[in-house]
Amino acid sequence: MDMRLHDYTAYLFDLDGTLWTGSELYAGASNLMQCLAEAGKRCVIVSNNSVLTGDRARAVLAERGLAGEPLAVTVTDVAGEYVARLLGADAGRGRVRVAGAPLLHRQCRLAGLETVDLWEPEQADVVLLGLHDSFTYQSLERLVACVEQGERFVVTNEDPWHPGPEGAKVPETGALLAGVRAICQCEYRAVGKPGRLLFDRALELAGVAASDAVMVGDSLDTDVTGARRAGIDSVWISFARPLPDCDDRSPTAVYESLSELAADLRAQSRGAGSATSRGGRVASR
Ligand SMILES: [Mg+2]
Repeated sequence: MDMRLHDYTAYLFDLDGTLWTGSELYAGASNLMQCLAEAGKRCVIVSNNSVLTGDRARAVLAERGLAGEPLAVTVTDVAGEYVARLLGADAGRGRVRVAGAPLLHRQCRLAGLETVDLWEPEQADVVLLGLHDSFTYQSLERLVACVEQGERFVVTNEDPWHPGPEGAKVPETGALLAGVRAICQCEYRAVGKPGRLLFDRALELAGVAASDAVMVGDSLDTDVTGARRAGIDSVWISFARPLPDCDDRSPTAVYESLSELAADLRAQSRGAGSATSRGGRVASR
């Protein structure tokens, strides 16, 4: 079936590097959300952000002027659930050492886990690493010791960085993970995209099946690959980057910017819309 972009019921959005830089909205983000809201579409932000919960992200985005009031779920929201499942832990059982932001600690406790901080001497079942700006040389040393003494190593996400203001690269959890693995070649698990859990939660929030949703994001490795594995079509926002050839991370469609995507959605809602190669039109599925 030839499916146009306007035909989906739900639109899932990456946050960092797609809708904002971490502090400022990208051009066209608010207009796109407004366009989708007017068309009665359901929008859910699906983010590997390990500092903000979905609710906190929504509040900050609203303060920045994002229209449409999209729902949101982040890796901060689901990391505790992931760890509890990994441990087979019932509520109130399972101890996780959290090396991350305050909201990550809180969400783990809400998932029924006992949390201890990085420096607590007693053994934990899992050490969970997320982005935090108090990470130091001593944190690295301590993380390696915890992993080597048998704590299972879980990271919120593997992204090494995300785009920041004025082209800056903002270091992410994956960079901290790389530091640990440079010292000990340990096994680890990652909670966020391209893993399935966040996509499942986003579809639940939207109240739709995978076939009725499309994921919009700037990352082929997390947004496009993860959506594909979850059976969700995808739009890659290229920001003028070339799409690699012969790549198994191929998105369903490509747009250069959020503004171009919004313009095509508006055109399609009027019964028009472009049919340019890999942009303006969703390929057959
Ligand atoms: Mg991104």
